[in-house]
Amino acid sequence: NQPGDSAIFEARESSVRSYCRQWPKVFTTASGARQQTETGESYLDFFAGAGALNYGHNNPTLKTALMDHLAEDVVIHSMDMHTPAKRRFLTALTEQVLEPRGMDHKVLFPGPTGTNTVEAALKAVRKATGRTEVVAFTNGFHGMTLGALSATANQMKRAGAGVPLTDVTRAAYEGHSGQAADLQALDAQWAEAGEDRPAGVIVELVQGEGGLNAASTEWVQQLAELCTKHDVKLIVDDVQAGCGRTGTFFSFEPAGITPDVVCLSKSLSGLGLPLAVTLIRPELDQWQPGEHNGTFRGFTPAFVTAAAALETYWADDAFATEVQARAERLRAGLAELVEAASGEAAIRGRGLMTGIVFADTEAAEKIAAAAFERGLMVETSGPESEVVKLLPPLTVTDEEIDEALRILRESIVAIGA
Ligand code: PMP
Repeated sequence: NQPGDSAIFEARESSVRSYCRQWPKVFTTASGARQQTETGESYLDFFAGAGALNYGHNNPTLKTALMDHLAEDVVIHSMDMHTPAKRRFLTALTEQVLEPRGMDHKVLFPGPTGTNTVEAALKAVRKATGRTEVVAFTNGFHGMTLGALSATANQMKRAGAGVPLTDVTRAAYEGHSGQAADLQALDAQWAEAGEDRPAGVIVELVQGEGGLNAASTEWVQQLAELCTKHDVKLIVDDVQAGCGRTGTFFSFEPAGITPDVVCLSKSLSGLGLPLAVTLIRPELDQWQPGEHNGTFRGFTPAFVTAAAALETYWADDAFATEVQARAERLRAGLAELVEAASGEAAIRGRGLMTGIVFADTEAAEKIAAAAFERGLMVETSGPESEVVKLLPPLTVTDEEIDEALRILRESIVAIGA
């Protein structure tokens, strides 16, 4: 096999693949918001590892921290033993993130992925309350393991389980209609259910996979109040919307609420290394030693890059302010595209988790394909893939934002949307 010959992929890899069909290239190098292929093409990356690369590919500061760490014979795999790397991470998380936001949450290492932190959150609230039911929302996405998938609304993803899932209660996300209950109905239901009310509610404040629906501050506050009123634990899944993506470290900061449980992963390590945490209020930390464990919970390279990211970007408000300014630039450009679009289109999302929804459900996928031909990687999202979703690294430059907007404009014109 020659370098660049994809026959081996075709022959050997499971045929059930999505991103490699969407972007049929072999990617070799990357920096910031750009990736290069084996055959020398350069792509502007507004996908950013599905939100795992908020600080850009090969962020120099984080990469140096990793190289310095690896230069010595450090413990790389430590299970959940103590290491200086873990201590540095916990210190940075405490000093840069938790203490300034008045959060006394314990930090649980649930395993390396987003679905691991969701699964841990669902278990923790059930164990702590002694109740079983969990409420999740229309269009919510929480991961692929059985518990997280039960909380996920997308029918296509759920079909991956093959047989019906144990369902959670489905409530309507703000602005969604359908069969699901809204917040007022939940209030009445929970009052009536008494001891049988749910253990918890799991919610994304901007739905990443579900179509970039952004809940309003008021709705989030009402949800938090409702949970407090009935002592139902509020889990915010910030796997995608966290780590600065919406313009503040956590997505819930503008609402002034403090969830009982927060799920973080994706961009937590900063350099794209696997890492997740579940932040839980101390009283919910009720597992006995060994009741919830896992092999890959002490990957010291990820602790080190995560600590470096928190120390570098979150010691003050400067980075968040920059992200907000970039988001405004991007959204101003998107507003012009929406204006110029021939059919119905609208902006969705919050911060640098934004995009355009099209009434013609095929338009978004065609635009994403046309954009790739022109050197821009973007994903689609939403139940019908009707949203062109932009998730650039938060470190993206103004020039790169303008370039992406230019390519999107050309792509929209090319497909006549
Ligand atoms: N929750 C949310 C909100 C997500 O966006 C994702 C991943 N797209 C997950 C959970 C699951 O994360 P992972 O793919 O790392 O298991």
